[in-house]
Amino acid sequence: MEVWHRISFSKKDNIDDILNSLKIEYKKNALPRGYTINFDIAESDSHWPQIMALTREKNGFDWYNTIFTKEEILDAEWVRLMPAFEGGYPQPKNYRKFIQSTYEIGCPRCGAGNRQKVPIRLVKEPNLVEHDFMSVFWTYSLFCGQHVLTELQKNRIQGYEIWPVIVNSTNDHSKVISQVLFPNIAQSALSDDDKIDPECCLTCGTPKYAYLRRGYMHLKRDGLIKEIDCQLTFEWFGGARFREILISHRFAKIIIENNWQGVSLKPIKLI
Ligand SMILES: [Zn+2]
Repeated sequence: MEVWHRISFSKKDNIDDILNSLKIEYKKNALPRGYTINFDIAESDSHWPQIMALTREKNGFDWYNTIFTKEEILDAEWVRLMPAFEGGYPQPKNYRKFIQSTYEIGCPRCGAGNRQKVPIRLVKEPNLVEHDFMSVFWTYSLFCGQHVLTELQKNRIQGYEIWPVIVNSTNDHSKVISQVLFPNIAQSALSDDDKIDPECCLTCGTPKYAYLRRGYMHLKRDGLIKEIDCQLTFEWFGGARFREILISHRFAKIIIENNWQGVSLKPIKLI
């Protein structure tokens, strides 16, 4: 497990000489009035304490995430599956119209309880490039190629539904991808320590927590449904609310053995 930081500074931070002296490689992106400097650094890097101090001092942008080894993922009974490749906007390309035409609305303010009622539409057949999974903007949705479905069915993975995707240009089902939906929702299982920055919706009162970026998520074993291979958390996370997708060791092993791309896997500790 390694926590990686993506750090950004701007020209006014005057950081070039320091980074050059530390021999830290960075990318410089030109802007109309100046530039930004971006680089990735792990917390195990000997320069991290200095970079952390500089980032705080100069109010640099710091986006971080935890990357787990394959062994750590395969050691876990349950794993968070996070879509990592976004293939454009769903249709209609107007957020309000997309939500109204695609979901039965639960809470109009936060979207808790929204239930997808029709297949998601895309403007044209997606290009998976070299990915096996994809998602689309405005949603925490998961799509995959037919070869993924074939493998999941062959291995009798339980707990998902397959929905078609409609392509506007042909008004027919996509021949490239299908949507994978997770109808089963665990009971409340999130450990109190992982309930970060709780925020309750002012309309429905449903709490949501910050997306967990550091280390393992801890879930109470008794809250999970045992007989299936995938389910959603009871709890909601993130800026735009979503429920985390949880997959079994069996499911995660198939993804890793096939080297499927387009999702990020993060192991869970059961308590
Ligand atoms: Zn609400």
